[in-house]
Parts: sequence; structure tokens; C-alpha cells
Amino acid sequence: MSATAEKKTHEFQAEVTQLLKLMVHSLYSNQEIFLRELISNASDACDKLRFQALSDDSLLGDDPDLKIRIDFNKKKLTITDNGIGMNAEQIVEHLGTIAKSGTKEFFHSLTGDQAKDSQMIGQFGVGFYSSFIVADKVTVTSRAAGESADQAVIWESDGQGSYTLEETTKDTRGTEITLHLNKEAAKEFLEEFRIRNIVKTYSDHIGFPIEMKASEGDNKGEWQTVNKVSALWTLQKKDISKEEYKEFYKHIAHDFEDPQDWIHNHVEGKQSYISLFYIPKRAPFDLMERDKRHGIKLYVKRVFIMDDAEHLMPTWLRFVRGLVDSDDLPLNVSREILQGNKLIDTIRAASVKKILGMLERMAKKNPQEYAEFWKNFGHVLKEGPVEDFKNRDQILRLLRFSSTHEDNAVPTVTLDEYVERMQEKQDKIYYIAAENFNAAKNNPALGIFREKGIEVLLMYERVDEWMMSHISEFDGKHFQSATSTELDLGDLAGKEEKQAQEKVEEQHKGLVERMKEVLGDDVNEVKVSSRLTDAPSCIVQGAYDMSMHMQKILKTAGHDMPSGKPTLEINVDHALVKRLNNEKDDDRFADWVRLLFEQAVLAEGGELGDPYAFVERLNKMLSELSNAGESGRIIVE
Ligand code: ADP
Ligand code: MG
Repeated sequence: MSATAEKKTHEFQAEVTQLLKLMVHSLYSNQEIFLRELISNASDACDKLRFQALSDDSLLGDDPDLKIRIDFNKKKLTITDNGIGMNAEQIVEHLGTIAKSGTKEFFHSLTGDQAKDSQMIGQFGVGFYSSFIVADKVTVTSRAAGESADQAVIWESDGQGSYTLEETTKDTRGTEITLHLNKEAAKEFLEEFRIRNIVKTYSDHIGFPIEMKASEGDNKGEWQTVNKVSALWTLQKKDISKEEYKEFYKHIAHDFEDPQDWIHNHVEGKQSYISLFYIPKRAPFDLMERDKRHGIKLYVKRVFIMDDAEHLMPTWLRFVRGLVDSDDLPLNVSREILQGNKLIDTIRAASVKKILGMLERMAKKNPQEYAEFWKNFGHVLKEGPVEDFKNRDQILRLLRFSSTHEDNAVPTVTLDEYVERMQEKQDKIYYIAAENFNAAKNNPALGIFREKGIEVLLMYERVDEWMMSHISEFDGKHFQSATSTELDLGDLAGKEEKQAQEKVEEQHKGLVERMKEVLGDDVNEVKVSSRLTDAPSCIVQGAYDMSMHMQKILKTAGHDMPSGKPTLEINVDHALVKRLNNEKDDDRFADWVRLLFEQAVLAEGGELGDPYAFVERLNKMLSELSNAGESGRIIVE
């Protein structure tokens, strides 16, 4: 032992202290998971050493058999590994801070409501700090591979805001973690039988032996292997129970919950590899960050090579967790080699197919389960048709939408269903993209569609408009936005209707001109509408323009947006518009026209350039109306 003078106290990073508090409070009903986390770390450490030893076998020295040991001593539980170990600098970095940027964002998303936050904690893997759920003090002694015995370090903490560091000597390579179990509630973890059970439940499939001392019989005191020590994915499907699949998922995905589904394949042929993919039950908090972690681990001939192998899974499937174990890749692959590697590209293409197949089966066999999947990951899957041209149709078939024919905010309509119930003369798939379900459903532009009973898909997720601007057709039918300036109902509108429309447009030329003068640069055009039935006005967009709500989203996200000019359509059958025809007073005319424009912008989810002017104008007009009401005059005919 070194002199106490060398013992230095360090503060935990603020987030760590916060995490520790949250964890101790929220996980007391699930205490045993600490052991899974520590064994998982020990196994990771062995994996890392085995990988590094591929290029430098001196790292293994005279201690080549990687293993994990669990031992008791009075009120102490010790977990030891002879893996990669940590030096002082690494220990500070790994056990004093939270490095993963995603984790930091997790803290920003905490609400302060402990019940809610506790639910979230499970999503993000609790790791080493979960030791403090059961221990009132934790001592970590570690010696990194390749370092000498006197370069070891002791880390110690009671989990209350600081930890100490001290130099020490350690004869063996690796890490020894001692949990001091003085809490009454932690007593159960000093019972050998209980620990063996936890290991069996959570860590049976760990690919290194987990050893415990025999407590009775002839071999009393000897180290015995407790787990199966076979990498689960190498077994045949028939030899793996559902429970084992689930536990393995929790191990690799750091999830608390069972997975929703999985698919496991041994592929033989031109190249051989094993893949095991899982779909989680719940979306992780950083799902929307496209460049964040990819959940696929790469193994080569059973040796762990890397986490987050982004080349193995496209971004639009970033919610998938699992692994690929290749027999053909060289053991010394690097991320650079993976990029553009033919073997990897083949594995990736086949994996995508497998996952799409799994989703198709889920959608068919168990629509309820698929609805759950869709709720969590649908908005990510929608990136697929844009990014994966080859699989576009297959992915499009997996999408689910709300529609004017279902009228509920849970998207269940497939494109196939839509096409199936298209009207006889209909040749387009109509959709509307808006800020939310109600804004889509109640958009005034849907008037004519309702009247004619034409189905319109209601889209209200951020990704929708972007997706729709990249896909033009499905099953030979073009998509068209119900708010497009070039609304084309094709043969759904009769010849007479079209002629009548032209006549009405001709009759209102003067009104349209006068309105255009008032609105000036705020609009691209003013047009007589053929799509409005109940509302007096609406905003429509050219085929390549961005909708107003999309402009708003991008502006909010800090993009400098040139405001695209919308087209205003008016319903000449509406009383308000009829009234305009007869309005002689130019000021009052201007007020009414502005109001028609502004309400259309609001209904479309857009932003008013000058909201205050709008409110002022509205109030002025309302007070005029009420004055008129008192004197018995009727303004709106
Ligand atoms: P995670 O395992 O998700 O990275 P943890 O909180 O479990 O998060 O562990 C944090 C880090 O501490 C690990 O990434 C690893 O670098 C280091 N670590 C933990 N336990 C060990 C160990 N037994 N041997 C070597 N390094 C370890
Ligand atoms: Mg861990």
C-alpha cells in the first residue's frame, strides 16, 4: 500500500452525481442488475484485450486464459477479470465522467419528475455506476495490460460526489472490483446460491468462463465455471430458448426490457457469417440523431472486433441492435477497411432484406405488435424509401398512414390498401402534409376531396414532407399533394366541372387582381379555388415549394430561410368572399383580404410575419361588427 499522502480526492462530474442519485432511487426494485453490468464490463475488457493481442500477443504475457471470477469475503463481493485493465488516466475518464455525448443529452431531457425519469434511465444502460445500488462503498483496483506491477491504481468511492485515487502495486493484469455490502437490503448478494442464479439468468452466454469457488463437496474451495461459456449466436436456433435470446438482447443492447422481436441466421455459401438482429420495444432517447450510435457489433471468427459498426446497417435501420460474426473478414479489420468492403456490403444488403422480411411477417401475423413497432420506429423507417432505392417498394409497403377514410390519429393505412380502394377514375395517390393530425385532417384544401369521397393520406410527422419530396410514385401511381397549386383530379372532375371552373375564374378576374394588389409581395398568386368547399380561403404550394409549416420547422432549427411565397386560393361561393365583390371602401377591402390570407396561413401551420398587426386588425373588425350589430346592420350577406 502506498502512503495515504498520495491518496487524492476527485469530484465526480456533475452528471455522474446526478445519475448516481437517480439510479439508487429508481432501481432499488431491480437491484440485481448491477452484477450483469459488472460482468458485462469484465467481458468487454476481456474482449478488448483479446482483440489487441491479435497484433501484440505479449500483452497476454503468462496469463493467456481470459476469465472472470466472483468471490465473497465477509461483507465484500469481488468481481475480478484479467482483461485489458485501466491506468490512472483511463480510470478517471471512465469511472469519473460520462463521456458518451448521448448520455449528456439524456440529462438534458430529464424532467425532474422522478417517476418519469426513472423510466428513462433503463433506456440508456446503467453500467458501472449501478454498483452503488447495492454497495455503500466500491473499490476498484486495476492494472492495464502492458504495464508493470507497480503501475496499478486504486479508485474508491461511496458514490456521494467524489472518489479517491491512489497508486498501488498489483501482481496480475486486469481489474478487481470490490463492493462493500453493508446495507441491509444488499445482504442477499452475499449468498453464493443467489449469485450463481443471477449469473445463470443474466450472463450464461458470456463467452468467457465466469468462475466461483465451490462451497461444498470434494472440490470445496476450487474454482468452478458457472456459465455455459458459449457465445449464444454460435448455437443453433433450436438449442436456444426464448428466455436466452431475451437475456442476450439485454446484455448487448443494455436494455431493461425484452426485445420486441429478433432474427437469427447462420449463413453459409460464398461467405459464411452469423447474424443476430433485435428490434427493441422502446425507442432510445437519441434515436433521432442520425449520426449517433449504430447498434451492431462486429465479430470475426467469434472475436469481438468493434461496437457500432455503422457500415453493417443503414442509417434508416439505426434502431436495430445485434451482431454480425464473419468467418471471412481478416481479424485485423478496421473501420476504414469496412468502408466499401465487398464482403461487408453483401452482408449489409442481406441483413436489410432479413430485417424487412421480419417486419413484413410481424405486420402480417401480429398487426398490434406492428402498430407498436410503428409508433416507436415508423418515422425512422420513413427515411428508407428515400435512401434505399433498391428496396423502395418493399419499404413503402411497410409504411402506415392516417387517412381521411379512417379518421383516427393512429396510422394503420397501407399504400396497398389505399390503391385497392381508389375510385374508378382516380389515377393519383393524394396526401396532405401538415404540422399535426388535426391540422392535416381539417385543412380547408380537403373540401373537394371530402365532397367527392376521395381518400387523402394524412401526414403529420416531420420526416413526411421530406420523404414525399423524394418519392414520386407507388405501384405506378403518382403521389400528389392536396395543397399543390397544380391540383389535378384527373378524370375525377368531369368535363362540365372544368368548364364551369374556367367560367368562374373569368368572372372573378377583377376581384383577384384587386386582392393581389393588396397582398403584393406576400403572395405569389391569388387564384379562384376549385378545392374549397366550406372555408373561404387556403394556401397552396407549387410542386417544388416547401410548405409553410416546413419553413417554420427549418427556421426554428436555425436555418436561414428565404420565405417561399405561397399562393392564396379563394372560395368564391363563400359569403365572406362574395361580400368582397361589393366592398367599395378600399381600406375595409384591404382588411378583409389580409384576414383571408392570414387565416389561411394559420390553418396551414405557417407563421404570420406580423402577428400583432393581425390581432389588431381582427379586433378592429370585430368591434366594427359589434357596433354594426347594435345598430342592426348586417355586414356579412
Ligand atoms: P459502458 O460499459 O456502457 O461503456 P460502464 O459504465 O459500464 O459503461 O463502463 C464505463 C467504462 O469503464 C467502460 O467503457 C470501460 O472503458 C471502463 N471499464 C469498466 N469496467 C471495466 C473493467 N472491468 N475493465 C476495464 N475497463 C472497465
Ligand atoms: Mg458497461
